[in-house]
Amino acid sequence: MLRQQTTSRKAFLLYGTLLVLPTLIFGVLYWRELQKDFQRQSEAVPQRAQDGADRIVNRMQERLTNLVVGESRRSFYQYAEVISPEDALGDDLALQPSPLVKAPMPSGILGWFSVLHIQGSESRVQTFVGSDVPERERALQALEPVVADFLKRADKLESLSEIAGAYFQDEVTPVPLTALVVNLVAGVGGEPSSVKEVGDALRGHVQGLRISDFRLQFYLDRGEPRAIASRRIMLSDGPALLGLPADAPCLRPLIDLLSVQQGFVLDVAWLFRSLPFELAAQLLDQDEELRVPPAGLPFDSVGSIYAEIYPVTALGFDTYYPGDQNYGRLEVQAFTERMDERNARQARGFLATGFMLLLTLGTGMTLLYRSVRRELDQAHRMQNFVAAVTHELRTPISTIRLHAEMLMDGWVDDAKHDEYYRRIVRETHRLSTLVERVLEKSRLKENVTRPVVGDLNEHVAALRDDLQPPESEPQDLAFQLEPKLPHVWLTAEGVGMIVSNLVENARKYAPARDEPILVRTRWAGGSVLLEVLDRGPGVPAAEREKIFEAFYRVGSEQTRTTTGTGLGLHLVRLHAETCHAQASVEEREGGGSVFRVAFRPAD
Ligand code: ADP
Repeated sequence: MLRQQTTSRKAFLLYGTLLVLPTLIFGVLYWRELQKDFQRQSEAVPQRAQDGADRIVNRMQERLTNLVVGESRRSFYQYAEVISPEDALGDDLALQPSPLVKAPMPSGILGWFSVLHIQGSESRVQTFVGSDVPERERALQALEPVVADFLKRADKLESLSEIAGAYFQDEVTPVPLTALVVNLVAGVGGEPSSVKEVGDALRGHVQGLRISDFRLQFYLDRGEPRAIASRRIMLSDGPALLGLPADAPCLRPLIDLLSVQQGFVLDVAWLFRSLPFELAAQLLDQDEELRVPPAGLPFDSVGSIYAEIYPVTALGFDTYYPGDQNYGRLEVQAFTERMDERNARQARGFLATGFMLLLTLGTGMTLLYRSVRRELDQAHRMQNFVAAVTHELRTPISTIRLHAEMLMDGWVDDAKHDEYYRRIVRETHRLSTLVERVLEKSRLKENVTRPVVGDLNEHVAALRDDLQPPESEPQDLAFQLEPKLPHVWLTAEGVGMIVSNLVENARKYAPARDEPILVRTRWAGGSVLLEVLDRGPGVPAAEREKIFEAFYRVGSEQTRTTTGTGLGLHLVRLHAETCHAQASVEEREGGGSVFRVAFRPAD
C-alpha cells in the first residue's frame, strides 16, 4: 500500500519535471528569442530606409550620367541652326539643319545654348530647342534670360585658373575646319553660305580643340531653381590658318575667337521631382515611401524612421551658395506599423499557444493531482479500516474465546460465572454492532426508508433514558430542547441513531470534565437544528468534511488509542440524508466541537 502511494507521488512529480518544466523553459527561451528578433528587425529599419534612399540616388545618378554622356558625345559644332556635316563629300559646301533643332528633345533637357566669346565684340548667346517643342519662339525667348543670368554668375564666380586649368582636359580634339568655321560664322550672326568662298581652301584642314567636361551647376535665380550643364571650348593652339586666305571675312571669327561656352538647361522639375518619385515606385518596398519633408515640422515630430536625400549634392552639382545644397530635399520614410503589427500578432499567437499549453498541462496536472489524492485517501482509509476491523474483530473474539474456554474447563469460580457470561454477551454485542453498522451502511445507501413529519423534541426526549451513562459513572449529559419547534421530516430510527452516535463519540473523543455534553434543539436560519456540543479537542478544519466519509478516522491507526471503524459519522450523514437533513461539524466557541444536523421544516 505504502509502495503504491510512493509510486503515485513519483508519477505526479515525473509529470511535473518531464513535461511542465521543459515546456516552461522552452517557452521562456523561445519568447526571449522572439523579442531579440523583434529588436533586430526594428534596428534594421533605419538601414532599410537608408538603402532605399541609396537605391533612388544611384538610379538618379545613372539617369543623369546617361544624359550628360549622351550630350558630351555631341560634336561641338552641332550647337547651331545649320551645320556642315563632317562626312559631306563633293565640291559644294553642304549645309543642313543641326540635329539639335531637327530631332525631338531628350527628356530632362529644356534647351541648349552656345555663347561665343570673340575678341573685340560682345558675347553672343544662341539658344536652341528640339523639333517637338510647341511654340518654339516662346521657349527660345524663355531660355535667353536664364542663360544670360548663368553667364553673369559664371563670369563673377569662376576663377580664371578654373577656366584655364583644372577645368580642361589635355586631350586635343581635331575638328574639320569647314564645320568649325560654319559654326562660328553662324554664331556671330553671319551667313553660313558665305563660307563657300573659301570652301575649297578649307577642305581637308582640321583645327585642334580643347573641350572641357560638362560641369553641373545649381543655383537659385531669384528663387527659381536652375540646373545647368556647361562646357568650355578653346582652340588648342591658335587658328590653323596655314595656306588659307587669312583676310577672307568668314575666317575673322576664327581668328578672333577667345572661347566658346556650350551647354544645356536641365528640367529641374523632372530631375528633382518626377524622376525620384518615378524611381521610388519601382525601387522602394511596400513599407517605404518617398516624400517631400513636411514643411515647418521639426524632424523628430514626424515620428517615423526616415533617410534623407539631398539631390543637389548627391548628383554632383556645384553650387554657388551653401543654402542651395538643401534644395529639393526628399526623405524615404520607413513605416514600422505593419512590422509592429506583424510582430505583435506573432507575440500574441505565441502567448495564446503558450497559454493553451499551460492550461492543458495545468488541467492535466490538477486532474492527476486529484486522482493521486483520491487514490491516496482511499488507500489511507482502507488501511485504517482494515486495521480497525481487524482490531474490532480480534478483541471481542479473543475475549469471548478466552472466557468461554475458561468456563468450559471449569477454571472459574461459581461466583464469577455471571460476570464471565456478561462479558461474553457484551463482546458478542460489540461484534454484532460492528456487523450491524456495516449492514446499515449498505441498507441506507439503497434509500429505502421514507421520512415522516414529526416533532424532533419528542423523539430526542424519548431517548433521554437510554443515553444516560451506567449508574456507576457520573452524569455527563445535559439537554436543552427549545419548545414549540416546527415539525420536521424525520425517521425515528434516524434521530435515535444520530443522537446516540454523536453522544457516544463525544464521550469517546471528548470526555466530559467540568462541563457536561450538551444535547440541544433550536430554530435557526430556517431549519430545526439538532446539536451535540462537547468541550473536547475539536476537529481540525481540514478534517471536518472528511470525517463524515465512510471508514475515515483522524490520524493513523497505528497511533490511535480509541476504538472505532470510521463508520459512526458516516451513518449519521446517511441517516440525515434520509431525513432530507444536513450533517456538519463546527468549532465550539470556547473550545470543543458542535456536531449539527439541520432538519427541514415540514411545511
Ligand atoms: P469512529 O468513532 O468509529 O472512529 P466516526 O465516524 O464516529 O468513527 O468518527 C470519525 C472521526 O471523527 C474519529 O476518528 C474522530 O477522530 C473524529 N471525531 C468524532 N467525534 C468527535 C468529537 N466529538 N470530537 C473530536 N473528534 C471527533
